[in-house]
Amino acid sequence: MSLALTTGSIMGRLDGKVIVLTAAAQGIGRAAALAFAREGAKVIATDINESKLQELEKYPGIQTRTLDVTKKKQIDQFANEIERLDVLFNVAGFVHHGTILDCEEKDWDFSMNLNIRSMYLMIKAFLPKMLAQKSGNIINMSSVASSIKGVENRCVYSTTKAAVIGLTKSLATDFIQQGIRCNCVCPATVDTPSLQERIQARPNPEEALNYFLKRQKTGRFATAEEIALLCVYLASDESAYITGNPVIIDGGWTL
Ligand code: NAD
Repeated sequence: MSLALTTGSIMGRLDGKVIVLTAAAQGIGRAAALAFAREGAKVIATDINESKLQELEKYPGIQTRTLDVTKKKQIDQFANEIERLDVLFNVAGFVHHGTILDCEEKDWDFSMNLNIRSMYLMIKAFLPKMLAQKSGNIINMSSVASSIKGVENRCVYSTTKAAVIGLTKSLATDFIQQGIRCNCVCPATVDTPSLQERIQARPNPEEALNYFLKRQKTGRFATAEEIALLCVYLASDESAYITGNPVIIDGGWTL
């Protein structure tokens, strides 16, 4: 009989870990915050959307903090408030629809700023704490629409998500001997509020839904909870030997 059974306590896979994550008010970030907390982590969930974020406060193990990941000052101030952290999960990102010809300079700059510069700012603020602890685990949100797969109408989005893979490998390489590891998650299409918004924004939403579904060989989208379970594994010590990896979770889209 295991110790957990004899003592009556249930061990979580993330017991004792402090996890900071961005874009936690909805979608994958929210599902990950809940999954981390269920596994015993102390979660500091952040987002720009204060009212939605606060809904997470009712769950044990989760505290919230408003944070705009494009604002260096806010990030640095937040980092000053945190004594230690074990895992940083950079989730925030935006999907721009279109080819390069549909992508104005302001669209390009917006996506670069939110999808990749934010990770640079967050990691630069929090990595020194991890280095001082001689341990740390960074997870970044990428996508199979990146350097992994060419996807129609995802020009600037794929460019930013390919950059996330480059950033991930670079960090993993530079700090491996200081006890830091870094991976990124590469999902296909995930059923989240922003996916539903993207579908509704198309001239023919029903056609758009069928197009998105047809791309998935499984005939369905991933759920945010399925992505969150992979994130639990990457955040846990069970994945201690995994670093520098773009971990694909795509229901066979890239097959
Ligand atoms: P979403 O788009 O539904 O939600 C995004 C969250 O980000 C919102 O809560 C929003 O308030 C927050 N946000 C926006 N701007 C912010 C800012 N400046 N600072 C802090 N927070 C901000 O979430 P999603 O669809 O789960 O996507 C999350 C991540 O996963 C993104 O990086 C996305 O590119 C990636 N991803 C999504 C899918 C998908 O199909 N949904 C697939 C692959 C990768």
